[in-house]
Amino acid sequence: MKVLVVGSGGREHALAWKLGQSPKVTQVFVAPGNAGTATEATNIEIDASDVPALVQFATKNQIDLTVVGPEAPLVLGIVDAFEEAGLRVFGPSRAAAELEGSKVFCKNLLHTADVPTADYRTFRGSDDASRYIKDKYPEPNEPVPVVIKADGLAAGKGVIVCETRREALEAIDRIAGQKEFGDAGNELIIEERLIGQEASVLAITDGETIISLPAAQDHKPAFDGDQGPNTGGMGAYCPTPIVDEAMFERIESDVLVPVVHAMKRARKPFKGVLYAGLMLTSAGPKVLEFNVRFGDPECQPLLMRLKSDLFEVLYAAAEGKLADIGSLEWDDRPSICVVMASEGYPGSYEKGLEITGLAEADEVDDVKVFHAGTTLQDGKVVNAGGRVLGVTAIGNSISTAKLNAYTAVRKIRWQGAWCRKDISDKAIHGG
Ligand code: ATP
Repeated sequence: MKVLVVGSGGREHALAWKLGQSPKVTQVFVAPGNAGTATEATNIEIDASDVPALVQFATKNQIDLTVVGPEAPLVLGIVDAFEEAGLRVFGPSRAAAELEGSKVFCKNLLHTADVPTADYRTFRGSDDASRYIKDKYPEPNEPVPVVIKADGLAAGKGVIVCETRREALEAIDRIAGQKEFGDAGNELIIEERLIGQEASVLAITDGETIISLPAAQDHKPAFDGDQGPNTGGMGAYCPTPIVDEAMFERIESDVLVPVVHAMKRARKPFKGVLYAGLMLTSAGPKVLEFNVRFGDPECQPLLMRLKSDLFEVLYAAAEGKLADIGSLEWDDRPSICVVMASEGYPGSYEKGLEITGLAEADEVDDVKVFHAGTTLQDGKVVNAGGRVLGVTAIGNSISTAKLNAYTAVRKIRWQGAWCRKDISDKAIHGG
């Protein structure tokens, strides 16, 4: 069977690696891929959002299954285009991808389905939103614990956590006044600020059957101790002990199952990866957001632990036959992914710097180095993005997994390379 993975990040390298291990898979293509996918799959020079070119490639090459990594092509309707062309594809339709593409749609669906989430109001334009803040918090100096969110996709930057009235009014102005995030700010949400630990629970579904994956924890802020600006994710580990068995079952029954049912009722049946970003509050788990694809970097430690044949699972889900799969088999050992980034990320950074030590790092026991922002230049691997590598390791305990990952990290060098040093510490030392 021939497989096409769409995307070029660490998530897509991990997907290509794992899919390639299936005895049923004869060839894996990645579009456009990176220097890592080039070594274990065939890279195709087609942009992840060039849907017509991807359909043409898949048709011509008789691809049996396409797996879409990032959200942008999903929101553009890549799945609809593939299915119209009679191609098998794993991922949600354009209509179902609205769960991530529109935060207003997501919040309203959660509300209708009675799924726990932060209290919220939606607004069009900055005037009503500013008036709401001024009326609700009349004292200029009182705390204003709200989160202001642009409705549409804004590459993680359209969510502004506020403490003061000034911050809230500024956030409203940036989103709805200045339109810093373009049309993504046509609508905005003001929601209650929640307190707690964050965790992610992902599930694979065909719209009927749900198979949830072990809970993971991402590390979005750039620097140790969750300091600094938000990033695409600086590391992740799984399973996370902050989600115990009882909590996990509660998340399945109170969040994942009702959302899949609600999507069906809304005539947007959901097929693909349903990713619940959760805040574990004193009142129980509450949904912060939904993503409609594997998280990057959560995908890397999850797939490091997966023993089942990923191809069989995703193929079955794409066919609407996930019930045939039953449950998944996992390595009991925990895993961790440490993201190595370019100097300056999440701001601007220099590209084209040679990376050394990759082979030595991959030789460390129980380690796999997934590439993200890398490319080949004159036969050398160089950085080509902000998040460059996802050094992923497994170990008998989370501390051992961490040690393995950082042992490998120390072997990798390029000018200005850096990473967080505390990935998984919340599991080791408590939150
Ligand atoms: P984008 O859609 O722009 O890519 P995103 O989907 O990454 O953004 P969210 O995951 O909704 O944005 O929010 C980013 C972060 O903001 C969360 O990980 C969390 O730390 C914080 N956050 C969001 N909503 C709340 C809330 N209600 N209370 C407290 N913190 C929140």
